[in-house]
Amino acid sequence: MKNLLFILSAFTFLSCASQQTVDNSVKEIVFRNVTVIPMNKNEVLTDQDVVVMNGKITAIGPTSKVRYGANAMVIDAKGKYLLPGLAEMHAHVPPVDDIEPMKDVLKLFALNGVTTIRGMLGHPRHLELRSKIQSGEIMGPRFITSGPSLNGNSVKTREDATTMVKDQKKAGYDFLKLHPGITKENFAAIAATAKEVGIPFAGHVSFDVGVWRAINAGYATIDHLDGFVESLVPGIENMKEQETGLFGLFLADKADESGIQKLTDSLRNHHIWVVPTQALAERWFHPAKDPDALGKEPEMKYMDVNTVNNWINTKKSLLNNPNYKPATVTRLIEIRKKLINACNKNGVGLLLGSDAPQVFDVPGFSIHHELRYLVDAGLTPYEALKTGTVNVGKFLNREDIGVIKAGAVSDLLLLNGNPLTDISQAHNIEGVMMGNLWMPKGYIAAELKKLEKK
Ligand SMILES: [Zn+2]
Repeated sequence: MKNLLFILSAFTFLSCASQQTVDNSVKEIVFRNVTVIPMNKNEVLTDQDVVVMNGKITAIGPTSKVRYGANAMVIDAKGKYLLPGLAEMHAHVPPVDDIEPMKDVLKLFALNGVTTIRGMLGHPRHLELRSKIQSGEIMGPRFITSGPSLNGNSVKTREDATTMVKDQKKAGYDFLKLHPGITKENFAAIAATAKEVGIPFAGHVSFDVGVWRAINAGYATIDHLDGFVESLVPGIENMKEQETGLFGLFLADKADESGIQKLTDSLRNHHIWVVPTQALAERWFHPAKDPDALGKEPEMKYMDVNTVNNWINTKKSLLNNPNYKPATVTRLIEIRKKLINACNKNGVGLLLGSDAPQVFDVPGFSIHHELRYLVDAGLTPYEALKTGTVNVGKFLNREDIGVIKAGAVSDLLLLNGNPLTDISQAHNIEGVMMGNLWMPKGYIAAELKKLEKK
């Protein structure tokens, strides 16, 4: 009886332990006997011990050769893979006055292995959110944020442009987010002022601006491949914006693919990073993906019903648009794949971003779709993973982000399979280490359960 009680209580302890987070600022954590995918080289290191403490990787080396304290928590990771945490470089945190709804979105990212996000539609409260994440008061991925949108409505004059840029720099946003509708004159004022005060700008390319002017002005990132397909269409300068559709949706059949080389050469020579958000195009635009079926995917249970219904209606109204031609849109998706592959082959820096939460892209889940779309476009799994790890560190000028080495931040994914041979294994998560916080599989499952909407 005594033995049985002991076994029972030991079992309860173990099952609780597997559902609890562990803070590595109070205790060293050791991933023992793990296969490391360091991402600064295309190699794997087998039978390694990786020690993390206080949000950093403190030691890495062959199993049993690495020292750590007697109190360390040791995770037996034999047969498992350790990958740097992923980034969603085109994320949306709700731009609302209340911080509460932001927390669920942050959690969805973290529980799916996303340890860095770049917020693409800023709000004054995002500055507060950023500092609360930094201090550990709010649990969430490292947060880089733009200010409120610069677009055709918010920027009507050159004065609007200079005022907004200066104000956002002063407020402390990390970069400016550009949306459609900006004239080339106002864009010139944005770019000049941004350069003067020292703040990067990124996002959409307005139709009047066009991709060549955008490249020359020095976007930090061009997102969604915006303006790319349009630039391949002969005579585009004589067309109206309404004829093109979002991202060239209605005129992809007129694109001349021989222009891809010149475009990617120019992007590379001007050091413009590209965030494709192919998941958005595939899931929102593709004629073969039925909106009702997308709305029934298991991950949709983490979004509220109104949001999912809006997404279904958004896609249905696109499909019913008289300018929507399934064959043209299918061609658009194919050209986008060629553009992504050409960027990769020609040395243009790619960053992983899926645009979540936007049309059928659920935070955290959609980044794994994006990885698969990059592989479908022709990248190897290693090249796809680079866009969400080591490339992010390069983009941020941080050698300690997106790699596994001593001194790097302890943002890590413990995986049950090798993502270098099968990209879907990046979502086969045994646990996530985000800075100080270790989240084992049991905790992740329990927290996801809590986030399900009724
Ligand atoms: Zn977006």
